[in-house]
Amino acid sequence: MFSQRVASVKPCGATGASSLRTPGRRRSVRGVGAVKDEERKERADDVRKRLARAQPEPKCELDHDNAWQLLVATILSAQSTDRGVNKVTPTLFAKYPTPAALAAASQQDVEAIVKPTGFFRNKAKSIRETSRRVAEDHGGEVPRTLEELTELPGVARKTANVVLGTAYRIASGMTIDTHAGRVSRRLGLTKESDPVKVERDLCALFPKASWIDMGHRFVLHGRYVCLATKPRCKHCPLNELCPVREAEPEGRWMARADSERELIDSRGQSAG
Ligand code: SF4
Repeated sequence: MFSQRVASVKPCGATGASSLRTPGRRRSVRGVGAVKDEERKERADDVRKRLARAQPEPKCELDHDNAWQLLVATILSAQSTDRGVNKVTPTLFAKYPTPAALAAASQQDVEAIVKPTGFFRNKAKSIRETSRRVAEDHGGEVPRTLEELTELPGVARKTANVVLGTAYRIASGMTIDTHAGRVSRRLGLTKESDPVKVERDLCALFPKASWIDMGHRFVLHGRYVCLATKPRCKHCPLNELCPVREAEPEGRWMARADSERELIDSRGQSAG
C-alpha cells in the first residue's frame, strides 16, 4: 500500500472537455490542464461529499494494536501489499511484543519473518533500528511530530502521516501512496506525480479537518474501485465528476457509493 513508487497514469478515455450531469445542475468538467482553481475546488468538494458517503469511517488496512505496531507495519508495507504485511506481523509481534524486544532481536530472525514482504534485509534493519530509537530515545512511545518521526530509519513523510493520522489523529498532512496519487490525477485534482507535490495540492483543496480521512479514502478508492488497469468506472460514485471516466455511470451516485462501502467493508470480497 505505501509504496514510494508512483504508478504511471493510464489514460482512461476522453481527456477533453465534456459536459456531465451532476445532481441539481449541469457543469463542464475538464481535465487538469484546463481546469480553473475555482472549478477544481468545487470538484474537490463534491468528491469529498461522495467519498464521505462511500466511506463514512475509513480505516487503515494494516492490522495493528498500537502506534509502534502501525509504524513497523507501515515500514514493511513499502513495495508490498497490506494483505501481505498482515500475514507476517502477527508472528513478528507475538515473538517481539515491544520496541525493546524487537530492537534486541537478531537481524537473521527478523529477516526470516518479514521475508515475504520483499526487500527484507533493509526492512528488517529499519524496523529493528527504528524500534531501538523508539525504546531508547523516546521512552518506548512513538513520537508525535513529523520531524521526529522522519528522523527514524525507514520513515519517510508518507509513513509519518499514516502513523500520526491513524494512531494519534494528528492531521500532519495527507497520505499519498500510489493509489491516492493515481485517483487524484485522474480526477484532475493535481497533475503532479511526486507524492509530496500531490500532497501539497490536495491539502490546499481539502479542509484540514478532512485530511486524515480523505487520505484513507483516496487510498481505498484506488485500491478497490479506481484500479490501475481496469477502473470500475460504471460503478464509481465519482463518475460524473471524473474527466477521464471510461464508461457511463450505472444508477444514482448514492447507490454506487453504498456499493463501494460494502466492497471496502468486505475487503474486496463483494466485488461482482
Ligand atoms: S470514473 Fe471513478 S473509477 Fe473511473 S477513472 Fe474516474 S475516479 Fe477512477
